Formats: sequence, C-alpha cells, structure tokens
Amino acid sequence: MANVVVKKIACPKCSECTEAKLYMSINATNEPTLRADVMDERLFKFRCTACGHEARLTYPVLYNDMKNRFMIYMIPEVDRFQLEDVELEQKYERLRGIRKRLASDFNSFKEKVFIFESGLDDMAVEITKLVISEMVAKKYGLSQVEEGYLSMYDREKNTMGFTFFVGKEHEPYVQSARLEIYGKAVTIVSEMAIKDRKLSGFIKIDREWAQNVLYRYKRMKQLDKKAQED
Ligand SMILES: [Zn+2]
Repeated sequence: MANVVVKKIACPKCSECTEAKLYMSINATNEPTLRADVMDERLFKFRCTACGHEARLTYPVLYNDMKNRFMIYMIPEVDRFQLEDVELEQKYERLRGIRKRLASDFNSFKEKVFIFESGLDDMAVEITKLVISEMVAKKYGLSQVEEGYLSMYDREKNTMGFTFFVGKEHEPYVQSARLEIYGKAVTIVSEMAIKDRKLSGFIKIDREWAQNVLYRYKRMKQLDKKAQED
C-alpha cells in the first residue's frame, strides 16, 4: 500500500490551509493507477480549496517497481552520489539485484522510470546521452548542452531519441541515435562501472557520473594505445 501522510498546507497565494495527501512511498506494481498519476504529475498537484490556486508539491518520494526490479528515491535537490538508508536496506534485504537510484528532480525521476520500464540500462543510457549531447552542442555552436532526457526507444526501428533543451529559450530539440551507440555504451559500462554496480544503497547515475566514466575510459584507451606503440 502507498504510504500516505495528510498535511495541512498553506496556500502560497492566499495563505489559507488546505489538507493535501503526500505520498511518502509508491508501489507501482500493486497500484498501477498511482504510477499513471505520478507520471503525469497529478499526484503532486496541490489545489487550494479557498482560492483555487494550483501548485506542484515537491517532497521526497520512494518509488518501487517490483515487477521491473527497480526503486527510485526522488529527493528534490539531492546533491550526493550515494544514499544508504539502513532501515530501507533491511526492509528490502531479501530483494537482491534491485537497481536503486537517486533522482534530484522530477524530470530525471520520470526518465529513470521510462528507462527501466523499457528494459534498458540507465548507466549506458546516460553515457549515450552525453555523447549525443556533445553532437547537439556542436550543431548549435554551444560549449555544451546539459539538460536532456531519453524520450523515445524503438528496438524494432533500431533507434532511441533524446529531447534536449538548448539555448537561452530552452527550446526542445529531439536528436535520435542508432542503437549501436547504446550498445557501445553498454560495453563501456561493463568495463568501467563494475564497482558502481556493487554499491549498496541508492546511487545517482547522471551526467556527472557519465562524464567521469567516459573520461576514465578514454584515458584507459590512450594508455593502451601508448603501451602498444612503446
Ligand atoms: Zn489559496
């Protein structure tokens, strides 16, 4: 069952208090309707009963998909790489091989759900996205394009697509990529992320993580090449 807390929340506009349901944890397998409500943000909607003002509630939520074997802890603005929650670890101890991720905002949270539901590896997706973002940056003559999300995946058509937000206007730009790039990223991850796969607790697999892995990978390849030349 969902773990719900009812709280009185003061309206940011008229300061009247309205009772709102806050979902501390969500089980997507047992409550598929909640999954839908999360994905279209309905679950986080606050509506003031006095003046009708609407706002989005931002608070930590633990999302658990037992069927696809992943858990996401969305903690707004979380800036750490790893979070070990002893109580949670004990509670879910018998569930091995569950991917546990930290998400610091709603968009990356939704992206993780999409990735894991599609049967993809989020580490490899993050590396693919980094490589593709560099292509997009070049195209636009920008030093870098940071914000982007996996928005399409079609195995039969051998393609995946990322939506990037570019320039000052944050215009959405969709760049597709052939799955061979993702396949290459899977190989890189299998070589470079052995330790990260064994970490306990929730970990944040994001652009920063991908930059670090790719940097180490390129360096390793350079050293290999140099060793062959010597
Ligand atoms: Zn109000």
